[in-house]
Amino acid sequence: MEAEAAVLAEGLGYDLVTFTDRPSEGTGDAWTVMAYAAGRASTVQLAARLDAEARPASVVARGVGSLQLLSGGRCRLFLGSSLAPEHLDVVEEAMAVVRALHDTSSSQATSPGVHHRLTSAERGPSLERAVPVWLHGSSEVVATLAGKLADGWSVDFAEVGVRGLAALNAVVDRAAAEAERDVREVRRAVTLAGEDAFDVQAVVAMVVEHGVSSIVLRSSAADAPEVRRFIAEVAPAVRAGVERSLPTGALSSRPVRRADVRALRRPGIAYDEVPDDLAGSAVEPGDAAFSAVRSTYLRGGNPGLVLRPSTADEVASAVSFARKHRHLPLGVRSGGHGISGRSTNDGGLVIDVRRLDDITVLDKAARLVRIGAGARWRDVARALQPHGWALTSGDYGGVGVGGLATAGGIGYLARKHGLTIDHLQAVEMVLADGRLVRANANSNAELFWAIRGAGANFGIAVAFEFEVDEVEEVGWGHFAFQAPDPAAYLEAFGRVVGDMPRETTPFLIMGRGVAQVMAMVDSTDPDVIVGQLQPLADIAPLVQQQVVVTPYAAVMNMFPETPHAGQGEPVSRSAFVRDITASFASASADLIRSGASHWYQIRSVGGAVADIAEDATAYAHRDARFALAVMGSNAQRLDRWFEPVRRQSDGLYLSFESDRHPDRLTDAFPPATLERLRRLKAHLDPDNLFRDNFNLTPASDDTRSAS
Ligand SMILES: Cc1cc2nc3c(=O)[nH]c(=O)nc-3n(C[C@H](O)[C@H](O)[C@H](O)COP(=O)(O)OP(=O)(O)OC[C@H]3O[C@@H](n4cnc5c(N)ncnc54)[C@H](O)[C@@H]3O)c2cc1C
Repeated sequence: MEAEAAVLAEGLGYDLVTFTDRPSEGTGDAWTVMAYAAGRASTVQLAARLDAEARPASVVARGVGSLQLLSGGRCRLFLGSSLAPEHLDVVEEAMAVVRALHDTSSSQATSPGVHHRLTSAERGPSLERAVPVWLHGSSEVVATLAGKLADGWSVDFAEVGVRGLAALNAVVDRAAAEAERDVREVRRAVTLAGEDAFDVQAVVAMVVEHGVSSIVLRSSAADAPEVRRFIAEVAPAVRAGVERSLPTGALSSRPVRRADVRALRRPGIAYDEVPDDLAGSAVEPGDAAFSAVRSTYLRGGNPGLVLRPSTADEVASAVSFARKHRHLPLGVRSGGHGISGRSTNDGGLVIDVRRLDDITVLDKAARLVRIGAGARWRDVARALQPHGWALTSGDYGGVGVGGLATAGGIGYLARKHGLTIDHLQAVEMVLADGRLVRANANSNAELFWAIRGAGANFGIAVAFEFEVDEVEEVGWGHFAFQAPDPAAYLEAFGRVVGDMPRETTPFLIMGRGVAQVMAMVDSTDPDVIVGQLQPLADIAPLVQQQVVVTPYAAVMNMFPETPHAGQGEPVSRSAFVRDITASFASASADLIRSGASHWYQIRSVGGAVADIAEDATAYAHRDARFALAVMGSNAQRLDRWFEPVRRQSDGLYLSFESDRHPDRLTDAFPPATLERLRRLKAHLDPDNLFRDNFNLTPASDDTRSAS
């Protein structure tokens, strides 16, 4: 059975197995067999050979798309036809339908056609890698069509012979050139059977002279002797022969993009100079993966190139590429939940470190954990839970480690355990000059200080080492109140939280007429939990309440991750206050009533956060007991109502602010902190490569000597 053949072939070292539709021979429907094989085998590529007229192309597109997702991008489609050459428009139409449905750059697809057509069909699924569509056949029409449109051309050697192969290959090249395509876009495959497959010299010639990249062996049965003989004898001999014959570097594994994809390239980017270690995972506009990486959770974007390193060395390589593109915007992305940071842009570069997401316990006794910058806080919470540990982070599990751990980290355990950065023991960071450095209290200590609050300005963090806390289950309360007088509610909330033990950290969301409080109590004792939450519950008439004992990880996993499809620019404002005074509450009430904001949230800080000295980290607002985040859709309108609130406040949390006015930088950092940061910036990033997130301009020459 062909599905078993795939497992056997994979075990023997074959790269590709093809499945032919031969139901009349009792082999089963190729499509279904291939899906089954994809689940049984784990690495081998799989190609279905289908006649374009045999099934509705939209059904094929949905099926192959789904299988591409499920198999981790291992599918190809070999389209052929048993119709006469003059009817081969059916192949072209089928290919157009498959491509249109897989192009997720917009939501609906239309493809005109006689045999296969689409009208305003929903596109999808969204793919990491497009399904390559090859055309299979030995006629000149097929070769021409392949050259014009397809990702590859495949032919049975027995049908064409040496001369036919050369002639048709030239047809493919000519058609590609006429369509203004790079001939390398159209890969070539030849199917061999019998003695033809064992003529090493001839096979080498196919690769070297005709650019054939896949040799397919047709065998009588999956376990036939020739299957083992070919992979044991012919494959290595052909590889060696090809290496001998071709100049060094000619066998590049860099992807060759289709002309229509290259046409979407943005100016000023040396696409062909993307370093080899990053080329395979880089995403350009027009690539299948682009729609999934162009925007972030809140911000719409259209970058020119997204680099996705998976090692620290690759991050260094990406930084070196970015240095050569200093003229372009540069976004650094971990979890894509940035508000202040611009981890996407228009026409620039993005270095996305989401693949650096390992979470490793380094020292169990010391509770020391190494966490990759690309991990999400929900994954961190899940990984720590079995040890009875947690690391305070934020209120949302989808946020990335890299952005939050370089800014502060105001989470549900803040009053008991401090900020996320207060747990940091060391960080590994790639600097603007490409060096990978480790910073801790003893080495690169100034950088270690700066990273804890202003890290985004100094490089790309690849991993963090944290001392985490012993946190078993926690008390989790969720209350909704009638709050017709927002000022009165806010003042009462401020009083209650001011007197609260530090085990409890409440966050308040204030709406028009309704207030919601989410509060975590670091205790499993029901009496402690209820005792500490009761004063909160007494603030105003309750309309809903829930109190449970639950793992910290369950709170971090409360909201499922949604695809990042942000649009436009988030409008967010931030402020710290020590106390919720009557005038702060009154200005806030005016803001809430104005309708200029759709989100007004106060997080309690204080407690353990205030145990750290103001100058111990770049995050300086240690005496604040409340952090305010307000979001709206119209910046001007929001600012009109927010300004009176800001006048009552003292500083801001960088991660909740989107206003780029230079004053915001002086709100975020006290003068001494700001000066110290700018001196370090001048030392480590004098050309200001990392500037997309509250840019600290390097100190001028006369002040930089102190670094
Ligand atoms: C729904 C939501 C909930 C939030 N809740 C909280 C919360 O409870 N507490 C809290 O403190 N914050 C919270 N935030 C703010 C959040 O912490 C910041 O926006 C943070 O920057 C997001 O990190 P990220 O890696 O997901 O973002 P990204 O968009 O990937 O990055 C944002 C910026 O961070 C910098 N950055 C990212 N990765 C790195 C890196 N590896 N090295 C150096 N710099 C890097 C870059 O400047 C980048 O532009 C929340 C944000 C959202 C959208």
